[in-house]
Amino acid sequence: MQFELPDLPYPYDALEPQIDERTMRIHHQKHHAGYTRKLNAALEEEGVKDTSIEQLLANISTHSTTIRNNGGGYYNHSLFWTIMGPAGKYPLNEDMQIAKALNRTFGTYESFQETFKKAALGRFGSGWAWLCVSEPVGELFVTSTPNQDNPLMNVVKDQGRPILGLDVWEHAYYLHYQNRRAAYADAFFELINWEAVNQRYKAARRIAISV
Ligand code: MN
Repeated sequence: MQFELPDLPYPYDALEPQIDERTMRIHHQKHHAGYTRKLNAALEEEGVKDTSIEQLLANISTHSTTIRNNGGGYYNHSLFWTIMGPAGKYPLNEDMQIAKALNRTFGTYESFQETFKKAALGRFGSGWAWLCVSEPVGELFVTSTPNQDNPLMNVVKDQGRPILGLDVWEHAYYLHYQNRRAAYADAFFELINWEAVNQRYKAARRIAISV
């Protein structure tokens, strides 16, 4: 079986100036392509067949570290591209279910932002910050994971279904922001595609409450 590198849903320069074109090209064509290639090679070598990426991650404890790292890298970046878009194009709208859920869980949007940013800045070294839907309750929570782990994996402390993620590996921001991870996190909030996150929220919640 083979996973394919998904195309970006927008041109490489679409996220300028918050995320520069050169970073996007290297990130997609080198890093994401690399995780995809190495995942496929490891699945082949280890004889893993006929599994969806979600199934693979849910049973990751039964697989090798190579599959864990590259399976996570494949999934995380596939999600990351789709929850961003040109600044201001897909704003958070008070009528969206995700807006109501953010208010219910965090009190205000600003409080959510603060919690998420803290997770992004508090992650030592490389990893990801996440907004997730819990199972089986279906409530929102924020967490972070090291390396290319994610909340779908059955080895992480806070399992759930990710609906928004921020890559805080230095390769995601170093060319433009150097060591300023906080400035990169601030810029990321301007790029969030809330229509896509709202769709993910609704789908994740349907699954959560049916578990
Ligand atoms: Mn990355």
